[in-house]
Amino acid sequence: MSHDAHDIAENIAHIHAEIRAAAEAGGRSATDVTLVAVSKTHEASRIQQAIDAGHRVFGENRVQEAEGKWPSLKEGAPDATLHLIGPLQGNKVKPALALFDVIETVDRPKLARRLASMMDETGHRPDMFIQVNTGEEPQKAGILPADLDGFVVECQDSLALPIVGLMCIPPVDEEPSLHFALLREMAHRNGLTGLSMGMSADFAVAVRFGATHVRVGTAIFGARAPINITQD
Ligand SMILES: *Cc1c(COP(=O)(O)O)cnc(C)c1O
Repeated sequence: MSHDAHDIAENIAHIHAEIRAAAEAGGRSATDVTLVAVSKTHEASRIQQAIDAGHRVFGENRVQEAEGKWPSLKEGAPDATLHLIGPLQGNKVKPALALFDVIETVDRPKLARRLASMMDETGHRPDMFIQVNTGEEPQKAGILPADLDGFVVECQDSLALPIVGLMCIPPVDEEPSLHFALLREMAHRNGLTGLSMGMSADFAVAVRFGATHVRVGTAIFGARAPINITQD
C-alpha cells in the first residue's frame, strides 16, 4: 500500500460511506456516528494529511506519544479533538486531562477518584467513557460487566465525572456483535447514550449495533508496526 495523502483522504471517504450505509440500514443517521481516526504510532506528517483532508477527531492510546505529536498539530487545527483510547496510569492523569478532549478508558475506581481530584485541581473536564471488559479477559483493561452498574453510580453520583458512554474492545477470537449487543444493553440500562465500539475490521457491524463512536486506525493510515495495542 502506498502512503500518500490521496490514500488517507480516500480511505476516510470510504469509511464515511460505509458508516452511512450501516447507519441507514439500521434506521439511524450517519451524523450520529463519530469516526475517531486512530493515529497511534503514526508520524505527525501522516496525521497532518488527515487534518488536511478535513478530518478532526483522532484517537491515541499513549499519553506520552500524544504529548509529543499533538500540541503542534493542534496549533494548526485548534478545532481538532483528541480521544484517549489506551490504558491511563495514575501518574499520567494530569497531562492526560490537559491534552485530551475525551477519555474513553475510565476502568477502575482508583483511576476514577484520581480523575475527579485532578479535574478539580486543573479545571479540565473532558468527556469520559467507561471501558468495559465485556469478554472478561484477564489481560485486558476494563471494568467487569458485573461491577459496571455500581461503578457508573460511583463515577456519576459520588465523583461527578462527566460520563457520556461505554467503550469496549471485544476479544479478537470472538464474534464482536455479541459484545456490541452486550455493551449497548449495559449502556441502556444505565441511561448512557455513548457507545464507543468497532475498529477497522468490524466498525460497520458496530454501527448496526448502535455505535456512536467507531475507532478506526489501520483502515485509514495503513498497517502499524506490530506492538501490543493495550500497552502504555
Ligand atoms: C489501535 C486501536 C484501535 C484501532 O484499531 P484498528 O484495527 O487499527 O482500526 C481501536 N481501539 C483501540 C482501543 C485501539 O488501541
